[in-house]
Amino acid sequence: MSKTYKITLLPGDGIGPEVVAEAVKVLDAVAGKAGFALEYDTRNAGGAAIDAHNDPMPDAVVDACKAADAVLLGAVGGPKWDHLTGRLRPESGLLKIRKELGAFANLRPVSVPASLAENSPLRPEKVAGLDLLTVRELTGGIYFGQPVGEEGEGDDRKAWNTMVYSVGEIKRVARVAFEWARKRRNKVTSVDKANVLAVSRLWRDTVKALHQAEYADVELDHMYIDNAAMQMVINPRQFDVILTGNIFGDILSDASATLGGSLGLLPSASVGGPVGLFEPVHGSAPDIAGQGKANPLAMILSVAMMLDALGEEAAAAAIRTGVDQVLDAGYRSGDLWREGNKLASTTQLGNLVRDAAVAAL
Ligand code: NAD
Repeated sequence: MSKTYKITLLPGDGIGPEVVAEAVKVLDAVAGKAGFALEYDTRNAGGAAIDAHNDPMPDAVVDACKAADAVLLGAVGGPKWDHLTGRLRPESGLLKIRKELGAFANLRPVSVPASLAENSPLRPEKVAGLDLLTVRELTGGIYFGQPVGEEGEGDDRKAWNTMVYSVGEIKRVARVAFEWARKRRNKVTSVDKANVLAVSRLWRDTVKALHQAEYADVELDHMYIDNAAMQMVINPRQFDVILTGNIFGDILSDASATLGGSLGLLPSASVGGPVGLFEPVHGSAPDIAGQGKANPLAMILSVAMMLDALGEEAAAAAIRTGVDQVLDAGYRSGDLWREGNKLASTTQLGNLVRDAAVAAL
């Protein structure tokens, strides 16, 4: 009997449902040929869940996610819910599900095939063939450290956050980076601010010790965050896997996200717990929602990351090949379209990738 994976779908808001529909279409088609099956449980999240349940991530949805083999999320948020505050905001639902799934490592691959190098804000020769993966620690560091506070008045008013990491937190995310490097070009660049911050010195010492003990076969170098930001612009192709903490990873992965010229191409995965969460980097794009203009490729590539995580590597590779072939053939959604390209709708791109991926299997 063929294997069946349980997938919880959280289409969300704006273009979320549109891109999830294309991703599911591609997934079903490759599954049929690769010999596995999928069972979907579709739930509201973000604004859709606020409308239905007055809660952006109801506990029942969290339970459905925990019961799945993987979760696919479109995007959440939009002007309709912008007036809400605190735990009622659509984005707070996202933070909740990431936390509940114990997803301590955020993976953000960025690759720029030669066919898209012209779309980059950098010169094409700087980015053609670029292929890097940022592994960002997601549940610790300054975004979660205690104490957090504020006191005083006038010029004496002050506020503080705490940047804290334990050896255990550093080791578990560093392992993710080293393991990925072994599947890629075998190089990790660990990014910190060890010249200034005590927490970064612990980060660097811990990464070095783990490297020596378990991953000496992987090339490792260390870079300060300020230099890494500069190198991301000067020579991004030097990077294979970037390993970094929560705040540095937030900033650096957004900078890397611009290199391909559109958010519509970038997938991501949040992993580390028993169930992984796979989602495009982009938001709900309310400006183009419902018009068939959304680029579904980031969502489709997030499905490829999910299949890799589930051990269905052949199907994942076929999807990536399908995406590359469709781009090579000149098809583009509006976000990437340039003179000489063929303008394609969300559904057309989904169909083209589906057919190319199935043919590649
Ligand atoms: P956004 O990513 O939604 O859009 C930024 C720009 O990129 C827009 O011009 C949009 O049209 C374009 N764009 C984004 N994805 C695209 C795609 N797949 N195809 C073509 N064009 C695409 O960011 P924003 O405008 O800052 O935020 C809009 C809403 O999304 C807000 O409510 C925000 O809070 C939310 N948001 C959600 C997530 C998430 O769910 N993970 C992430 C970021 C923003």
